Amino acid sequence: MKKSIPLFLICAALVSFAFVKPDTKTTKQINVVIDAGHGGTDFGATSSSGTEKLIVEQITTKIKFLNKNENVVIHLTRNEDKYISLSDRTAIINNIKPDLVLSLHVNQSANVAKSGMEFYVANESAASEKSILIANALRTKFTQNNTLKSSEVRKAPFFILKKSEAPAVLVELGYMSNLDDREYLTNDLEQNKIAATIVAFISELK
Ligand SMILES: [Zn+2]
Repeated sequence: MKKSIPLFLICAALVSFAFVKPDTKTTKQINVVIDAGHGGTDFGATSSSGTEKLIVEQITTKIKFLNKNENVVIHLTRNEDKYISLSDRTAIINNIKPDLVLSLHVNQSANVAKSGMEFYVANESAASEKSILIANALRTKFTQNNTLKSSEVRKAPFFILKKSEAPAVLVELGYMSNLDDREYLTNDLEQNKIAATIVAFISELK
């Protein structure tokens, strides 16, 4: 009897090789830019109990601090209370060539009853489709983990979103003009939760 290797074993070996992922895939480094809106002379939304520029800077700092994933590198467009123009921000972003840009903001409305999170992607951009996918996934993550309600993902011609070559999402974290939102956004523990949700989301990026 010939001692040949049965065909089914060869097939099984080929199939198992097909599922062996190259190392580069499992250790892929993810680069994310967190863009804290406003800064310096540009206060953004203001109220008696806080400013948008400070809230987004605090949350950005927490994101950087909470990220312990060595495959995830968090880059910031600003890490201090400093004015940086929108074109300088996009220059920083496009120079880094990240996998994702998250621009963090706080909303304001004359209607003080208006509240909740909003997610925006560009009308048109280099990475429009990916941006929409990421925005929807991030919105779902926030819906599961955090207390503020979220609107559907919207499109808007925001400069950072339009000019970023990488997928980019702008998040309005809540309304400064709404008392409940404002208390939520200026609360240290809630800020930690917001940061933790973003860090967990980034860690799951492929
Ligand atoms: Zn803003």
